[in-house]
Amino acid sequence: MELSDVGPVRVGGIEYSISEETEPFSNDEGTELMGEVRYDMAQLRVRSSMNAQLKPGVLFHELLHAILYQAGHMKQKESVVLALEYGLLDVLRQNPRLVDYLGLKKEG
Ligand SMILES: [Zn+2]
Repeated sequence: MELSDVGPVRVGGIEYSISEETEPFSNDEGTELMGEVRYDMAQLRVRSSMNAQLKPGVLFHELLHAILYQAGHMKQKESVVLALEYGLLDVLRQNPRLVDYLGLKKEG
């Protein structure tokens, strides 16, 4: 499945679009980013030129920022978001029966 097949993602009642950016983009400090969430635009941006294996993690990371923001955490500690990104993705990927039990697996 490609990133472009995912479509918009609903977070706390807000529909975030997903866009793959061909042009590099940076944060306010000028650091080039692999992904970014634009709360004002309800947009999750992922750099299209990066290795395809990295994109799910980057999307998941930006999604976590959106989830926290929608839950009222306007300022987020990057180390906590990174820990949740790696930790949650790893647990979900390694435990298909847990994913099933949590109702995250699509039937059929
Ligand atoms: Zn982040």
